[in-house]
Amino acid sequence: MGSINAIVEIVEIVDPLLGWGLPQLRDFPWRQTNNRWHVLVSEVMSQQTQVHRVVPKFNLFLEQFPTPAICAGASLGELLEIWQGLGYPRRCRNLHEAAKVMVLRHNGEVPATLEELVALPGVGDYTARAVMAFADHADVGVVDTNVARVLARVQNKVLGKKEVQLIADAIVPEGLGWEWNQVMMDFGATVCSARAPKCASCIINNHCSWRKLGGDDPAPATAGTSKPQSRFEGSDRQARGKLMKALVSGAVRISDAAKVMGITEYQERSDVIVQSLLEDGLIAQVNGWYQQP
Ligand code: SF4
Repeated sequence: MGSINAIVEIVEIVDPLLGWGLPQLRDFPWRQTNNRWHVLVSEVMSQQTQVHRVVPKFNLFLEQFPTPAICAGASLGELLEIWQGLGYPRRCRNLHEAAKVMVLRHNGEVPATLEELVALPGVGDYTARAVMAFADHADVGVVDTNVARVLARVQNKVLGKKEVQLIADAIVPEGLGWEWNQVMMDFGATVCSARAPKCASCIINNHCSWRKLGGDDPAPATAGTSKPQSRFEGSDRQARGKLMKALVSGAVRISDAAKVMGITEYQERSDVIVQSLLEDGLIAQVNGWYQQP
């Protein structure tokens, strides 16, 4: 009952937000396509990576791998070369695995249903719904951290993952799944931002309970949808990235790995990092060398 009341109230934000957002949608190449593969690639690349870094990589990636079949037929090393700079290379490996599944089970196409999409490696609820809304214009709520934050603040209520998805799905205006979700993404990113929401000029501030009542922000950084990024400088993630980057130029001797990662004084740590890369399939070991998979 609580959720139904919440939906009745929150649906009042839909018209003003569409009026605010549609005339000024941010322009991204993935907003010019209905191709499911293109949308999927953009979504996977955009997770935890700033959008201005994604655009050139997105274009380059699709030039080389315009279909799931071509992607599946390439080596992971070829994909990782383009992925350099985007970080979180497990996403790239998962995309490669997903492309192989599409070839095996879906005639080389990105499937269309939620059930089939979430069965793909690396595709969760968010990415699946993004493909459905942004490629097929389905009326589903796409809930990333930004959207979850807006919904929590408007209701001045901490929302669990299931509740926020229920509300997001329920308020999509019929036939406007693409438009509504794009507007929500832009609004959450540019107006109702995590650290400095522009409440005074916000088009829905008269519908926003947090604005009216004040108090603690009901949307902690993640709103139950994704984890905040940990510090990069000096991290294992940075060391992993250094070794993978070096492998784009050629194989690295096993004995040189710690040096390449800049952690010669921590041999044990170097061994653990290299082992994790091997287990993730992101590097390969051949005789006394590490190389791209
Ligand atoms: S009034 Fe402030 S907190 Fe509420 S929706 Fe607008 S920007 Fe977000």
